[in-house]
Amino acid sequence: MIKRKRVAVIGGGVSGLAAAKAFDERGHRVLGFERSHDFGGVWELSRSYPDVQTQSPKDLYCYTDHPMPEDYPEWPKGPQVHAYLHSYAQKHDLARLFRLNTCVKSMGRRADGQPGWTLVLEAGSHIWEEDFDFVSVCTGQFSDKNIITHPGQDAFVAAGGDVMHSSEYTDPAMIKDKRVVVLGGSKSATDIAVNAANNGARSVHWVYLEPVWRVPYFVGGINFKRLLYMRAQEQQFNAWGKTGLQRAVAMLFKPLVWANFRGLETLLKTQLGLKKYGIVPKTPIEKEVSCSVPIVTPGLFEALKAGTIMNVQGTYDRYDGKTIVLTNGDKIEADTSILAVGWKLGVPYLPQSAQEKLIEDDGQYRVYRLAVNPDLPDMGFVGFNSSFCTVLSAEMIANWLVRYADGQLQHQPTADEMTQSIEMMLNWRRNERPAAQIYGGLCSAPFHFKHFDELLADMGARKRKRSNPLAEQFSYPNHRAYGEFLASCPQYQAG
Ligand SMILES: Cc1cc2nc3c(=O)[nH]c(=O)nc-3n(C[C@H](O)[C@H](O)[C@H](O)COP(=O)(O)OP(=O)(O)OC[C@H]3O[C@@H](n4cnc5c(N)ncnc54)[C@H](O)[C@@H]3O)c2cc1C
Repeated sequence: MIKRKRVAVIGGGVSGLAAAKAFDERGHRVLGFERSHDFGGVWELSRSYPDVQTQSPKDLYCYTDHPMPEDYPEWPKGPQVHAYLHSYAQKHDLARLFRLNTCVKSMGRRADGQPGWTLVLEAGSHIWEEDFDFVSVCTGQFSDKNIITHPGQDAFVAAGGDVMHSSEYTDPAMIKDKRVVVLGGSKSATDIAVNAANNGARSVHWVYLEPVWRVPYFVGGINFKRLLYMRAQEQQFNAWGKTGLQRAVAMLFKPLVWANFRGLETLLKTQLGLKKYGIVPKTPIEKEVSCSVPIVTPGLFEALKAGTIMNVQGTYDRYDGKTIVLTNGDKIEADTSILAVGWKLGVPYLPQSAQEKLIEDDGQYRVYRLAVNPDLPDMGFVGFNSSFCTVLSAEMIANWLVRYADGQLQHQPTADEMTQSIEMMLNWRRNERPAAQIYGGLCSAPFHFKHFDELLADMGARKRKRSNPLAEQFSYPNHRAYGEFLASCPQYQAG
């Protein structure tokens, strides 16, 4: 008999909903805590900048049993994703499990000596403690703004300038008739630059440190999901844990792989005109592909061509009155400075001693299957990782995690096995694939299939691949197929 547990789910975004459903359907008593007034996480409306849109096509950004509506566009807008997440919560009656406006302030091992954790919770002025047998951390990678300041910022603001984090740009009225500078190389930076250019900004400069490879929604006229998400493509990147034979085969195919990626680079350079704007990346694309490779914001290259966005390579040195001085000496007159500099990765409510077990000195995270740390019992992470198909990834990990918590994985790993695997992954990231160190090593892209294969094998799925080997090699991770694979795992009930 599997004990029915009291399970805390921290966070009510994509991952919190997936975790709450997975634990609830196995019979556990789930209590979810979301500090905001609404579900949705990054897609919650008051946190989204105008025109925010998914990078993933809609059938790569959905739960296995709940496709996005037919009438949604291929790349849905933020409010559509938000409505979709609400419809998922409604379908599985998940709202009953959550307390909104409730923040987890801190957590520690249970004082009564039982396995599990005590959470310190805060709702308005009410602060209280609750004990849980297991905690599923679902607070993602985008919960705490990365706040940076530059010398002279106070004087810039005193002179009437505005400085804001990208998530605070919520209304184009904020930049009407303003000289806008957007700092950052990510998609949010280019999304905001394009939005500002299209909505009456007097001028828009986009400042970034280094050019990076950007993938348009259509590569050579083909939806990128049909080209770049395939297992056949994924196998060309240097994945972890290769056997001697796999390494030998990789050597044999190296020239073909090299030619494939040079072809892709040529296509991107020609299609986007990267040379013309001086934004040809220096790193070969196959070495760079990870969660940091953005999708091209629709309208970006059109705006560069029209001169409504001016791109400048560099970064801020200081503000001088209403001028932003870059480290290369360039000066840009500005009224509004939008810092698209991302988020601080972390689990601030975990005790320091636990953080030390979780995070290496160089910021790399120690998590097995991107889900658990053997030195932190009775807890796990869902969606702590980034990927190119985060919703499916969160659902896969949530289903793995509940089985792990219940000792029901077909292959339940020992602490030693987990530690060895973590060390192997750290070594791979540091020495074989530096791009995989992005976001504390918590990015599963471009290795979605490999990660899902491991999770399904651990869960004992009878079906892990499509019956047609060609379809398996040349199609993207399809939510319906993964729904079937999950259904083929041994099922059980707690309690
Ligand atoms: C603009 C943007 C576009 C994106 N587009 C894509 C895409 O196209 N494809 C893709 O795969 N991924 C995309 N992502 C990544 C995205 O983060 C994930 O897809 C997904 O939404 C993450 O969900 P999550 O639940 O893990 O985290 P979040 O959405 O960040 O949710 C975490 C939740 O935890 C809550 N929380 C945090 N701390 C506490 C606390 N102490 N107590 C209680 N609650 C707390 C937060 O309020 C939040 O609601 C995008 C991200 C952004 C920012």
